Amino acid sequence: MPKEIPHYVGGAETSGSGDRSAPVFNPATGEQSGSVRLADKATVDRAVAAALAAFPAWGDAPPLKRARILNRFLAIAEARTDELAAVITAEHGKVLSDAKGEIQRGLEVVEFATGAPQILKGEITENVGSRVDSHSLRQPLGVVAGITPFNFPAMVPMWMFPIALACGDCFILKPSERDPSAALLIAAWLKEAGLPDGVFNVVNGDKQAVDALLLHPDVQAVSFVGSTPIARYVYETATRAGKRAQALGGAKNHMIIMPDADMDQAVDALMGAAYGSAGERCMAISVAVPVGEKTADALVERLAPKVRALKVGPGTDPDAEMGPLVTAQHRDKVKAYVDHGVEEGAELVVDGRGLSLQGYENGYFLGGTLFDRVTPDMKIYKEEIFGPVLVVARAPDYAEAARLVNEHEFGNGATIFTRDGDAAREFAHAVKAGMVGINVPIPVPMAFHSFGGWKASLFGDHHMHGPEGVRFYTRLKTVTTRWPTGIRAGAEFVMPTLG
Ligand code: NAD
Repeated sequence: MPKEIPHYVGGAETSGSGDRSAPVFNPATGEQSGSVRLADKATVDRAVAAALAAFPAWGDAPPLKRARILNRFLAIAEARTDELAAVITAEHGKVLSDAKGEIQRGLEVVEFATGAPQILKGEITENVGSRVDSHSLRQPLGVVAGITPFNFPAMVPMWMFPIALACGDCFILKPSERDPSAALLIAAWLKEAGLPDGVFNVVNGDKQAVDALLLHPDVQAVSFVGSTPIARYVYETATRAGKRAQALGGAKNHMIIMPDADMDQAVDALMGAAYGSAGERCMAISVAVPVGEKTADALVERLAPKVRALKVGPGTDPDAEMGPLVTAQHRDKVKAYVDHGVEEGAELVVDGRGLSLQGYENGYFLGGTLFDRVTPDMKIYKEEIFGPVLVVARAPDYAEAARLVNEHEFGNGATIFTRDGDAAREFAHAVKAGMVGINVPIPVPMAFHSFGGWKASLFGDHHMHGPEGVRFYTRLKTVTTRWPTGIRAGAEFVMPTLG
């Protein structure tokens, strides 16, 4: 019997109400490993009620007290990273070293959040008027929700809840139903760290649970990370219901390779950025744009043998560079994109479709795939594939390469490889993307900066974590104070001024 994967409400695991559940698979073997409960509205209502009940005490707790709990969580998670990584690999499929990497990047946000007393400091101005002072403070919103994708089951929730908790909010996490177990381990560790019951809850589920959160009158804000159509839907539904919302969507990240780039460095960077985590990263490079035919020929010539030599295997194999895709459906979708690319007339340089691994014949594996001479009208250029498929779109000059990046629907990350400072500066200044790399393939901002894209890669006004996260999870209040000795006699009917 596959194990039941429950919810976590008010400090305890629960099956919730309703009778819906969904299978969870081990992508390396194709075997069903679990059965995740899918929350109905009543279960979501229970989670919101638990969070609402916990909020008065948590919201009023001194930031230092909240920070100490996050500090203990950090220590627990660091000591048991291997355990969490194993859970991620078993349900997501990524190689263990990559799972550990995502945990590390997530824990950096927790580290940032342990600075709660510092990051929540307000501002003060003495004498905004004669004997009048003003100070501003940031107060928690109340109950907030986070809806997360399958591809980073630990890191993406950690972009959200550490900041929300540090700010005094109570949190409800709705993880991906494809790899839900990491969230439950995190919930148990938060409790062990001393987090009061109800401050952090997990509701597993699908659209039903998401809709219940989006429409619940006691949920003040919604953070979402996932595909663009759902991001748009979540943003529109949540804001229409009067909530604050930030919804991060899909991506098609370009890497421009200038003729003067260090080609070996660029090729190595592309291999990791395009094929790491089987391309299931929102910051994966999925389009390489070499400038000039000579650059393009050199790039493809060096890339092709490396793509063919990629070590694909189960995530538990220490030698594997790339694991399986997350589900059979997703593997089939990515395969269909490759078929389509061939039909569209792109040049298939390396074909990963035929891969079969001995002993893992039922796993959702796909080999690294490389297309050359891809043009902007092709589906494989326009759409996010989210698999180990890199497309090369050749550009005659820098202006055309930059135009490609800027005219694409998505604007998550973009990067340039060059030795030319002028070109790099112009690129960083003018490119229409939220996160920019210069000789850095995956420019994911560190925890104390903020993460987010432009265009169809983000709906809302705030990026995630760092200072933007603090702004998102708090409300600003500005207090103006005058003590009796400063009060002039009589009522004042004009707008207060300095005079
Ligand atoms: P997804 O959009 O299918 O699912 C994301 C979340 O939305 C899940 O929790 C899922 O249960 C829920 N959901 C799915 N369908 C829904 C519906 N019809 N109504 C309401 N909720 C629904 O995304 P995914 O496949 O899990 O993740 C991959 C996607 O996430 C890719 O597009 C990737 O680019 C994107 N992503 C973006 C970022 C970023 O920072 N911009 C980061 C990671 C992943």
